[in-house]
Formats: sequence, C-alpha cells, structure tokens
Amino acid sequence: MNRRFIPVSAPMLVGNEKKYVTDCLDSSWISSCGGYVERFEQAFAEFCGARHAVSCCNGTTALHLALLALGVGAGDEVIVPTLTFVATANAVTYCGARPVFVDADPVTWNLDPTLVEARITPRTKGIVVVHLYGLPAEMDTIKEIARRHDLFVVEDAAEAHGAEYKGRRTGTLADVACFSFYGNKIITTGEGGMVTTNDPALARRVAQLRGQGMDSERRYWFPVVGYNYRMMNLPAAVGLAQLERADWHTGRRREVAGWYEERLAAVAGLTWQHETQHVRHARWLFTVTLAEELSAARDEVMSLMGERGVETRPVFYPMHVLPPYRESASHEAFPVADRVAQSGVSLPTWAGLERDDVDHVCAIFVRCLEEVAERYVESMEA
Ligand SMILES: *Cc1c(COP(=O)(O)O)cnc(C)c1O
Repeated sequence: MNRRFIPVSAPMLVGNEKKYVTDCLDSSWISSCGGYVERFEQAFAEFCGARHAVSCCNGTTALHLALLALGVGAGDEVIVPTLTFVATANAVTYCGARPVFVDADPVTWNLDPTLVEARITPRTKGIVVVHLYGLPAEMDTIKEIARRHDLFVVEDAAEAHGAEYKGRRTGTLADVACFSFYGNKIITTGEGGMVTTNDPALARRVAQLRGQGMDSERRYWFPVVGYNYRMMNLPAAVGLAQLERADWHTGRRREVAGWYEERLAAVAGLTWQHETQHVRHARWLFTVTLAEELSAARDEVMSLMGERGVETRPVFYPMHVLPPYRESASHEAFPVADRVAQSGVSLPTWAGLERDDVDHVCAIFVRCLEEVAERYVESMEA
C-alpha cells in the first residue's frame, strides 16, 4: 500500500463489478429498468434473511420511504438517537413530523433504551434505531417498549450490513430496515439504498411510493402522490457484484477491527464499542474516544495524523446541536452523545487494509497522542 496516504475508507471493487457494469452498457439497460435491479434486490433480501427488499436511490430515501409507508405525517413525533448521521432526523422532517432525540448509551453509543419511555407522548408514532458504526442497537428492550406503546420500530442499518443480533442479521430485526450503499459503506453501489421487511403490504407501499405512486396493476394511474426514488441498473450491477463477495467484505472489516483492538488495547484512556455475547459488530468504522483530558485536543490529533498521511474523521455532531434541530431540543441534556461526539475519532477501516497498514496507522496515532499530550502538559505548566 502507498504509505503516503491512507484514506479513512475506500471501496473495494474486486469482484464482478466491471463485468456487470459493462453488461449494462453493452445491453443499453442503464436506467431503472433492466435485470440487475431485481437481482440485486433478491440477493440482498437473501443476504439479510428478509422476505422483501425494495431498492431505492440512497439510504436517505430508504428512510423517507419507510416512514411514509408506516404512515408518518404532519404532527407526528418519531424518536431517534441524537448521535447519528443527519439523514435519520431529516427523513422524519421530510414527512412533516418531528424527530424527538434520545441520548446514547455510554457503552454501546447506541440509543439508550432506558431513556426512551420518558420521551413518548400521545403524538409518538415510532422509534428509529441506528446501529451506529455497525453495532446493533439493543433491539429486544426497544421492541418491548414499542410493543407496550403500540409504536413501530425502524432500523437505520445504513452502517450495519451483515451485523447480527441474537443470530439474526440486521434487516430483519424490526418492522422495516433501511440500508445505504454510499461509497464509504460496507457494501456499496456508489449511491444507493434498500428497504427490507417481512411485511408484504409494507413492501408494496414502499415500492409504490418509490415509483411516483403508480398503481402496480394499472400503468400511469397514480392513486397517491409518490416520488422518483428508483435505483438505476448500473449501480444495482455494482451492488450485485459486491454481494457475491459479501462474506469477504464483512470478514475483512472484522479482521481489521480485530487488529486495531489488539494494537490499541494498551493505550491508556482509549475506549471503543465492544461486541457483547449476543451481538456481531459489522465494523463499519473503527472509532475510539480519547481520554477525557485529551478530548479538547481531538481536532489537533486528527490534523497531525492528516499531515502524516493518515486520514481520520470525527464522530458526527449530535442532532441536538445542529441549527435545524437545536431549538426543539434545547430543554434537554445529552451528556453521553456530547462526550462521544467531542472525543471520538474514526480510524481508517475498509476491506483492503492489511495488518501492517493498521500497525502503521496505530503507530502514527499513538505518536500524535503523545505529542499533543506533552504540549498540553507544557501549556498547563506555563
Ligand atoms: C450513510 C447514512 C445514511 C444515509 O445514507 P445515504 O445513502 O448517504 O443517503 C443514513 N443513516 C446513517 C446512520 C448513515 O450512516
């Protein structure tokens, strides 16, 4: 590997991607008709163990379609974790509903189930859980709360292809699940998304809304207002090739994360998400939080690493600090999400990394931590 620069993520197009895309071009089936869309949907349903998979043009539209199909509309509230990518909250907003934020669990960084019930009101329609960085949320507890209050549960599994909870894969753990195939995700199509469910009526509604709302039996008859959120045949061809090697993609990431855990175990103050007995982590991005006394210097550590050829990325800003959402959340405190967001760094995690790349990243990371720590002590003594 070129040592001058290690990106935080990179797609690995090492299977039949080129062959299938060439097939699309040769056959001139390049838009949303053509065989690869259906083949990709079937293969993805099989990969998850779900009955239905409906493709769409990205993970954000997958969330929007799922929420619409579940009947979310104006005046409704949907509970979402504050520590997530903005698309989770935005999809709720697109429906005219209000996202209600819940803090993270200090160990898993996922939605803290013990805080959910206090946020339920008569307007609450459901809960969107996010499997953050690929670690499945605590589904049984959340589903039990949902059952008691008659709420739906959606998985935002954009970062968690192939992760498992009690032996079942993401995509089958709630009423409906949403995936992203953006270029940095575990399985990619460039841009792309998928909705999976075991409920045939829900799958039909998602498919109808994706295709302008057209009646499935009567062409150009539109009983509802839908959207054009279709996936094209070209990215579906890439996705099918990626899925043929899904075990390789997911296995390599787990190997890379294992090397990080080994190398960083002895570094004081670092924490990360651990697998529990009943959970298999998909390892989208190996993310660590720095020791508390260094968290103010997180950005400095990241820029030092960048200068030395290792790209990193910060944990997302939590939703409750972003301009569109901060007012509605101003009366609440989210101490765990704040801490993880301020001190969290994602290290390069992708299927093409070798052990010596991980060693190299860790050596640079540890050196930058030491340099910054020294400077901190000096500035405090001065
Ligand atoms: C990537 C991501 C999305 C959005 O997916 P896009 O394909 O980029 O629209 C949604 N939720 C989470 C948690 C993500 O990481």
